[in-house]
Amino acid sequence: MKKILIVGLDGLQMNQINHLQTPNLNKFKNNGFSFENHHSTFPTVTRSNAASIVTGVNPGTHGIVGNTMVFRDYDSEIILPVFYSEMLDLYNRTGEILLVPSLSEILSDNGLSFMVLNSGSSGNAIIQNTAIIKNKQTTLHRDINLDKNEYSNLPDSIHEWPEQNIPDYNSTNHIINILSDLEEDNLSDVSIIWFDEPDKSQHNFGLNVEESNKALKHVDNLFGKIIEFLDQNSLDPTIMLVSDHGYSRITEVVDIQKELQANFPGYLFAENGGSFLVYTKKDQIFDPILIHEIMSKPWAGPIIAGSNKISINGIHNYDLFAQSGKRNPDLFVSMNWEKLHNLKNIEGQVYSTSLKKGLGNHGSVSPQEIHNSLVIGGKEIKVNQGTFLPSSNIDILPTILTLLDIGIPKHLEGRVLFECLDNNSSNINDEFDKLNFPLTTRLHNGEYIQNIHLSIYKNFKYLDFASVEK
Ligand SMILES: [Zn+2]
Repeated sequence: MKKILIVGLDGLQMNQINHLQTPNLNKFKNNGFSFENHHSTFPTVTRSNAASIVTGVNPGTHGIVGNTMVFRDYDSEIILPVFYSEMLDLYNRTGEILLVPSLSEILSDNGLSFMVLNSGSSGNAIIQNTAIIKNKQTTLHRDINLDKNEYSNLPDSIHEWPEQNIPDYNSTNHIINILSDLEEDNLSDVSIIWFDEPDKSQHNFGLNVEESNKALKHVDNLFGKIIEFLDQNSLDPTIMLVSDHGYSRITEVVDIQKELQANFPGYLFAENGGSFLVYTKKDQIFDPILIHEIMSKPWAGPIIAGSNKISINGIHNYDLFAQSGKRNPDLFVSMNWEKLHNLKNIEGQVYSTSLKKGLGNHGSVSPQEIHNSLVIGGKEIKVNQGTFLPSSNIDILPTILTLLDIGIPKHLEGRVLFECLDNNSSNINDEFDKLNFPLTTRLHNGEYIQNIHLSIYKNFKYLDFASVEK
């Protein structure tokens, strides 16, 4: 039986893979197929993208539109962080976490096994396998306790999570310990191993600084150990090396509550690092003056209306690049960003709703945060090739299903990445279109021009980035 192993390095950018810093990832890349124009979904945060990876759809459709957000179906007056306990409450009250079936359920329906080993947040872990709520499939995470009777085949080591520090050497090492304690035939048909590095260190220490580089080297080393484990046990899965989003350096931290909440008490502002989400409170009517106020702030980047209910000249609607859904906020606001050309391995900077100036963050619609990593390797995959065709985290699920000969559900929004398959003649140098959608708004103190850049390949839309000129 074919097996698939997804290895996620949170926040990894393609340009961080090189022979000096990450020799094991680099070797894998040279033996596999790399997607040099890969995209995360917007907002460029972990839990939205974890959901896009396992559902094959954009956040509007799967319903996790941020790391913190309002679930109107749960309580329209509170901002909820996406963690395990909150998602459990959400499930108990509404019967759904994700609004569409995900990898764990599709595999269950096809009689295939699935395991998630995750050192990141509990929100990320529950999204990767929502079936765990019904004791289906397996998730090993420090905050998720499994029913001992249902999972008696697992090694005792799964219960002994070590203390978590930054860099997170302890939990990432623990994942490898669990892996090596598994029975040989215990690697599931599909597995996700998710490391919370280099993300954690990049938030805490900054980009391309000694501690973060050490953390990256450490997870590279663990990636080498995974390959060793597979070799020793004669396992030969198709491996997908993925990340959730890219990164920026923080220009300045902005206190959104202070900047907006005092003058606009009728709204909720859910902060997501490089972006924030705006929700109109119950019984309040959305007032376009809020949009003009945000536009006039130097820290504000592109503003995108979450639904057709908000129709304002000068800002685009989410429908331009993805399907709107019932959990979309009234506004997605990206913080303003800029490109940097002079610093090695740091492509750009962004205003941030949290952390500190000079550290790392993400969440915005900048190209450096949208562009992330995907390399696929294995028996059925082209060797030492790559493409600049656009690809996205939503393309991962349809590609997995194709590798497993499972039919692709009609509601998926991603495409099968045929260009990496060995038996496929799909051209890696195909043409695709790049389009810009500009809009201009006149403000009392000047103009605000918003640009949304999309790539379009075979009718699939990819949000490349969006920018503003003031
Ligand atoms: Zn992060």
